Amino acid sequence: MKQITAIYPGSFDPVTNGHLDLIHRGCKLFDRLIVAVAQNQEKGGPFFSVEERVEMLQAMTSELENVTVDAFEGLLMTYCIEKRANAVLRGIRAVSDYEFELQMALMNRKIEPSVETVFMMPAEKYSYLSSRIVREIASFGGPLSGLVPELVEEHLRRRIAEKRPATIEIPTK
Ligand code: ADP
Repeated sequence: MKQITAIYPGSFDPVTNGHLDLIHRGCKLFDRLIVAVAQNQEKGGPFFSVEERVEMLQAMTSELENVTVDAFEGLLMTYCIEKRANAVLRGIRAVSDYEFELQMALMNRKIEPSVETVFMMPAEKYSYLSSRIVREIASFGGPLSGLVPELVEEHLRRRIAEKRPATIEIPTK
């Protein structure tokens, strides 16, 4: 029987409960699921290094036997061929994700017709959750429980504390 290997690509900066919801759904559907961390080219640079993001994902998926975590650079379709993957897993949260995801899926199909993109929906409670919003809440010291695993919350709090500029002492005359 044909084995289905799927790649779940993303920046995962950091991994959220929405990503984990999708990983849990995906690993039931595919024989192998490779979570692939991409270098993101966001303005201001990434929040966590690729190595840190891979480590957090590994810690959160260690119990899932058919899930591995990797990092990749360059074209996703080149990486799929290298890994002999036949599917790409992507999440659709709201209608707003659809246009971008459709464009990506069709372009990837044009580049490599043997790889299918499969879309999955997370539980409703994660449908408004993104790494960007998590970083924003964390930077203002807001509540993160239920949005990211505790380990990720600890990493976020530590990174924010490191980034906070030192208090400037204004000398009084
Ligand atoms: P983001 O910064 O938006 O969280 P990523 O690049 O890390 O994005 O996302 C990788 C993939 O995971 C994308 O297909 C994205 O749609 C999906 N994804 C991100 N957050 C969620 C979520 N809360 N529920 C379902 N899928 C999600």
